Amino acid sequence: MPRIARRSRIPWLVVVALALLGAAPVPRQNRADPPILILVSLDGWRWDYIDQHPVPNLKALAARGIRARALIPSFPVLTFPNHYTIVTGLYPEHHGIVANSMRDASMPERFSMSAQTAKDPRWWGGEPLWVTAMRQGLRTATMFWPGSEAPIGGMRPTYWKPFDDTFPTRDRVDAVLGWLALPAGERPSFVSLYFEDVDKAGHDFGPGSPELAAAVAHLDEALGALVGGVHRLGLDDRATFVVISDHGMTPTTYDRVIYLDALIDLRTVETFETGSSLQIAPRDGDVDGLYRRLHGKHPHLAIYTRADVPARLHFNGNPRIPAIIGVPDAGWSASSGQRLIEEELHVGEHGYTPATRDMGALFVAAGPALRRGVVVPPFENVHIYDLLCRILQIAPAKNDGRAAVTGGFLRRR
Ligand SMILES: [Zn+2]
Repeated sequence: MPRIARRSRIPWLVVVALALLGAAPVPRQNRADPPILILVSLDGWRWDYIDQHPVPNLKALAARGIRARALIPSFPVLTFPNHYTIVTGLYPEHHGIVANSMRDASMPERFSMSAQTAKDPRWWGGEPLWVTAMRQGLRTATMFWPGSEAPIGGMRPTYWKPFDDTFPTRDRVDAVLGWLALPAGERPSFVSLYFEDVDKAGHDFGPGSPELAAAVAHLDEALGALVGGVHRLGLDDRATFVVISDHGMTPTTYDRVIYLDALIDLRTVETFETGSSLQIAPRDGDVDGLYRRLHGKHPHLAIYTRADVPARLHFNGNPRIPAIIGVPDAGWSASSGQRLIEEELHVGEHGYTPATRDMGALFVAAGPALRRGVVVPPFENVHIYDLLCRILQIAPAKNDGRAAVTGGFLRRR
């Protein structure tokens, strides 16, 4: 069942009067003003959109906080693996969401983003931020985030809603403001928000399109409504905004297609990811045979066996990683003639290697504990989780990030 808390009906005067009488609920952390963290994902927002488009609200947030020149995604540069990396601090090989589509020998069904499988906690390893926070006595709320629909460690966020891409942008913002307007004893300390509009426009119309520009403007407006709403709730001195994206976007074209069916019989392989990221396995178990038929056969496609994926990609250590991994050059698509007949090629894609310039993502953060007007060099998204924990003043679970990377973002007290 969707659980969207409605705006509190308790008049503020009563709340203030109760507080003065000492009858208001005491925050469980025993702090006068426990911090509030609002994590916003703008899916597919490339690192340079902030300077290419008029985005006054995002710019204002950057001016009073920290901005990274780029946020470097983790491999594979896909939506689910990266969103879950951001909230766990773990590379996909360690948190187990190794693709948007995957198989596990111990599970009856393949994992897919929209299916029931995404609600099965056995797929989701590590400890997401909302679980870390709840274990330490905080309430949490998610207006969509990959993983939030599964009871990970037996816990779902205090307030959450199943993903629904028809749920309007402004309603998402209003639901979050409704949660933050709850009385102190019910208000969440951590809230997430997720928007897919920019990713969708990038795929369907390309990163340079007017449709992309319109989606960027639309989400900047939503961000403005969010920041304004938090201000009206009187939470400016407690609320930190962290606005990120999972990856960037690059143009793709029909003259940059790697036809897999010219190299192998696709009926002989199980396919998990194609396009900008190739994850396949031979049905007969002959990994060497499949490797030989693909390796070095196309100048724009690097092919690895699972054991040989370069260490910089952190993508060997999980049995869910298929036997053969392919990485096309930026802008190229590994596909097949048949697939192109069945479905159109996206005109914008993400995937490739995390170091690809166009795959760079967004990082902007502002709040009372953070330095103001600082621009930092690009850093990897595994390091965000530690920072989020520090903002919430909670102890992080074990993760792949290094606290030192974001330590300088904090104000000296
Ligand atoms: Zn995405």
